[in-house]
Amino acid sequence: MNKWDYAESIESSSIVNIQKKYGIFIDGKFQSSNSKKSLKTISPSTEEVLSTISLGNKNDINDAVQSAKEGLKIWSKLSGTQRAKYLFKLARLIQERSREFAVLESLDGGKPIKESRDFDLPQVAANFFYFAGWADKLNLSWNTNGMKPYGVVGQIIPWNFPLLMLSWKVAPALATGNVVILKPAESTPLTALLFAELCEEVGLPPGVFNLVTGDGTTGAALVQHPEISKIAFTGSTGVGKYIQKETADRDIGLTLELGGKAANIVFNDAAIDQAVEGVVNGIFFNQGHVCCAGSRLVLQEDIHDQFVSKLEKRMQSLRVGNPLDKNTDIGAINSREQLDKISELVNNGVDEGGSIFQTECELPQNGFWFKPTLFTNAQPSYRIAREEIFGPVLTTLTFRTPEEAIEISNNTEYGLSAGIWTEKGSKILWTADRLQAGVIWANTFNKFDPASPFGGYKESGFGREGGRHGLLSYLKVQS
Ligand code: NDP
Repeated sequence: MNKWDYAESIESSSIVNIQKKYGIFIDGKFQSSNSKKSLKTISPSTEEVLSTISLGNKNDINDAVQSAKEGLKIWSKLSGTQRAKYLFKLARLIQERSREFAVLESLDGGKPIKESRDFDLPQVAANFFYFAGWADKLNLSWNTNGMKPYGVVGQIIPWNFPLLMLSWKVAPALATGNVVILKPAESTPLTALLFAELCEEVGLPPGVFNLVTGDGTTGAALVQHPEISKIAFTGSTGVGKYIQKETADRDIGLTLELGGKAANIVFNDAAIDQAVEGVVNGIFFNQGHVCCAGSRLVLQEDIHDQFVSKLEKRMQSLRVGNPLDKNTDIGAINSREQLDKISELVNNGVDEGGSIFQTECELPQNGFWFKPTLFTNAQPSYRIAREEIFGPVLTTLTFRTPEEAIEISNNTEYGLSAGIWTEKGSKILWTADRLQAGVIWANTFNKFDPASPFGGYKESGFGREGGRHGLLSYLKVQS
């Protein structure tokens, strides 16, 4: 037995009240979709159907835009202080109902309850509080004289942090005086639908927040609508490129938060046990479904064997299984498609010559699961070292000199995040200065704060979310 024995500690799902069928949220109320078509959302840990959601079409998007335009007339007359009151109310309600949201997120998305409860939900509330605080102080954030909100903003979010990505997008947009049409990912719509209920409860003016569920075609209809003034997107680099091309000939604001292939660099003078813990957190957090995941372990050659041996031992203790079990470290892979993608890339890593280590955990019968995986003996040219796997898979590359560490780390089309592990402050600064990444952590990983801007370089996108800079993404110079 390689894992510690624990009794199960299952979070009750009785707190959530999932409806059999959901409409779309327009004009401040739920209504039927024009398309009359629907999609099933399932629990990736059991494959059980949780609910049926509407597949929004072009007409639904158009209705949402008309609703948003009416909402903007009301929202733009409110002062910053008045807008802040709504955001504070939403933040407080999210806190009050955070257990319910956390269970729903884990059911719909497969992430461990200890992460949805202790990471996602506190961060979601913190984002609403943070941007509520700025709403009446925009002139203190930047000199916003001569700047105005875009107006009707389209926001498209992915399935890895559904409610957190909603908060990253909706809170700053509303704080700066914009109105929103949100398109959540088709596999994780339920927390966004519950958020729409909160908007009704706080009495947010109709049309200020609109929600159209659906698939990629719904997202594309939102992008193509001529009356949208700004698109904020988080997701794959492929769809990000499509959006940029699609909007190239329009006067439209664009923020793209795309993929990543972050280097987590461990120098030979690092505190090894802490670095092992940080590397584990960097890649196995949220099943590795994290755009800024530390998916490349860039390890100084002379500590390779010692580090890998400690890392494998630590990985064996990771508990994979029921997301609602409070002891679970790694939950379900979000969808069959994502599982297939991970499996294909891992098989390719083996075919190309990488040495694979997988933990001995037992995987549940139903649902989508992948064992925590470590590759050593990989070359920088292998696909597992270049492509975003978006799963619990870590690829090790080695270096001898700090210069070589920089060369390997920057040898990627992405530039979202990086980690540095060393006991020397000067080495941290030297390394950080040379890394091409939007966010760099030193002797830690995956730390987030609403006050800190987040975003990438190169094919990881552009624009910043969070912090004062996140406000600028929703303001444009008055013409
Ligand atoms: P996508 O980029 O396809 O999905 C992100 C969002 O965009 C979803 O809401 C999706 O809707 C929507 N969308 C899809 N197609 C279009 C379109 N043509 N126009 C407008 N919106 C669209 O990511 P996937 O879910 O397909 O994941 C694929 C890969 O992308 C992953 O394996 C991972 O590597 C990467 N990814 C990166 C993320 C990040 O944070 N950087 C987040 C998610 C994925 P729907 O879900 O309904 O298709």
